[in-house]
Amino acid sequence: MRRESERGHAVSMRQIAILNQKGGVGKTTTAVNLGAALAERGYRVCLIDLDPQAHASLHLGVEPRPEMTSIYDVLVRDLPLAAARRQVGPNLFLVPSHLDLAAAEVELAGVVGREVILRDKLREDPEKFDFLFVDCPPSLGVLTLNALTAVNEIFITLQPHFLALHGLSKLLQTIELVVRRLNNRLRVSGIILCMYDGNTRLAAEVGEDLERFFRNVRSHRCPWSQVRIFQTRIRRNIRLAEAPSFGKSILEYAPDSPGAQDYRQLAEEVLAAATSPIPPSTDSS
Ligand code: ADP
Ligand code: MG
Repeated sequence: MRRESERGHAVSMRQIAILNQKGGVGKTTTAVNLGAALAERGYRVCLIDLDPQAHASLHLGVEPRPEMTSIYDVLVRDLPLAAARRQVGPNLFLVPSHLDLAAAEVELAGVVGREVILRDKLREDPEKFDFLFVDCPPSLGVLTLNALTAVNEIFITLQPHFLALHGLSKLLQTIELVVRRLNNRLRVSGIILCMYDGNTRLAAEVGEDLERFFRNVRSHRCPWSQVRIFQTRIRRNIRLAEAPSFGKSILEYAPDSPGAQDYRQLAEEVLAAATSPIPPSTDSS
């Protein structure tokens, strides 16, 4: 089914950054396991680990070594993506991170066009995938800007606690600036609630707050007016926290766990969203 939709049409690559400037909200867990779930469905998936902490690389069993070619070499030493990319499973490819990436911010400081290096590397890359995911670091620095200029979609992960929406407006402001100045194709297309405790009132309330917040902007022309709050909630599941230390996605580590079920279901929703776009707002304003 590679590079074909279920109706047999060729589909173009979806390029998605997994974003939130906060740490510990499920970005890496989602990038790895949603990617793995789509790969399991037969789609060709490439994950770029843009976080110097290299959690996504470790999660997929790639231990960053000093001599290893990584995204650092692509961004700072002008190597092609293919030099760093490796296959980590059926249909699943990884461009790993490296501790050196922490220095990239400083090393790129004087470089003209430093925010668009990844975009240009992707354009030069002959290899095509159905999905490209970029796992962003928990900051809004030059690495994240490289992600946001390279992709055309953003999925924001949120952990539904009482400060979940705090920081969201700052994030959206940054996205708006990037759209205006660097990448006018960029849209926030999905919100994913992670570490969801279905039994708590708080989780339900955060979900409702989000629905309300985004419903109110449907009629506005802004980069998040067409966002989909995914119905699949990623439940809190200890298996998801264990899987990284075995270097395996949840689908390999615990294929029948609630975590694996949730990411498979999210993958279905992501696929369905592509074939049935959200209808435009009926608001006349
Ligand atoms: P981020 O990339 O945003 O910093 P992570 O995906 O690394 O966040 O998640 C933070 C921590 O929470 C990690 O230890 C991860 O294994 C764990 N975790 C993520 N999602 C879940 C979940 N649904 N249930 C339990 N633990 C989770
Ligand atoms: Mg992370």
